[in-house]
Amino acid sequence: MTCIAYHRPTSLGAALELAAENPDARFIAGGTDLLVKLRKRVHASPAALISLRRIDELARVEVGECLRIGAAVPLADLAVNEHVRERLPALTDALATFGSRQIRNVATLGGNLGNASPGSDAAPPLLVHDARLELRSTSGVREIPLAEFFRGPGETALGAGEIVTAILVDGPSEGAVSVFFRKSRVSMDIAIASVAVLLEVDGTRCTKARVAAGAVAPTPLRLEAAEAALEGTALDEAACAAAVASVDAAIAPISDVRAEEWYRRHVTAVLLRRALMRLAGSTAAVPTGGGGVS
Ligand SMILES: Cc1cc2nc3c(=O)[nH]c(=O)nc-3n(C[C@H](O)[C@H](O)[C@H](O)COP(=O)(O)OP(=O)(O)OC[C@H]3O[C@@H](n4cnc5c(N)ncnc54)[C@H](O)[C@@H]3O)c2cc1C
Repeated sequence: MTCIAYHRPTSLGAALELAAENPDARFIAGGTDLLVKLRKRVHASPAALISLRRIDELARVEVGECLRIGAAVPLADLAVNEHVRERLPALTDALATFGSRQIRNVATLGGNLGNASPGSDAAPPLLVHDARLELRSTSGVREIPLAEFFRGPGETALGAGEIVTAILVDGPSEGAVSVFFRKSRVSMDIAIASVAVLLEVDGTRCTKARVAAGAVAPTPLRLEAAEAALEGTALDEAACAAAVASVDAAIAPISDVRAEEWYRRHVTAVLLRRALMRLAGSTAAVPTGGGGVS
């Protein structure tokens, strides 16, 4: 791995100018994905690296009607952030088992999403919370739903010289609950499959359901058929079973060193069932038993 220049700008404007002047440069945040890929020569060595670690604007969590998470806040800080815990419980779940303490101390959400791994653990929780990304370049700022950000393994909607500056999440509405489950071979391994679920319940009726999965398709994805099976129902056994049954047609897992395709399919269905059962503790509407989870 050879790299000609390493820049450490202290303002966003300077970082964007550097990116515009150096089209072959790459941004680096924690480096926990990028440095591995450079060592393995997945990427050609860039002419320059532009560090995002000294830019205060990217390192803040701002709380208003919308929660604004700076793209370069270390995951260790997010894992103990009370606003994240309160508003995005599924993300707090994901961060609790994310890598190791050393990884969480430097890794960031901007890097996790920018890396666009199908097995990103941050993506399913953010997808169920309808997160949007704020993107900036020297041409200006735009917002994009996270669901439109991933284009394929390692591929995103980022334009040349564009950077994720923040993750934006509205709400959630009162009564919303969310949860994240993952399955991996051993701790610190990328997930074989992961599932996040968000439910909003009015009385006994589910008014909003969001289901997302990771590591079972070329990108993290929403499982819209499962959402449709849950929304408008009393979240009874039939609705939960229909949601779980819809998973198989919605995902496209691969077989690799971590797991066979059939096992990923099985695990995804089991994780969705478990997530619905876990949320039974948070909302009276979800049935607590049955369903043959194995
Ligand atoms: C031992 C180990 C364990 C791991 N465990 C997990 C795990 O449990 N779950 C999981 O999901 N991942 C895991 N990972 C992968 C990695 O740690 C995460 O994806 C992490 O969040 C990446 O963040 P980073 O800041 O280190 O990204 P970097 O490596 O700095 O960057 C990754 C990519 O994103 C780009 N980038 C970075 N910041 C931005 C930005 N703001 N805007 C645009 N592009 C940007 C970079 O140019 C690069 O292409 C693990 C990695 C290791 C080495």
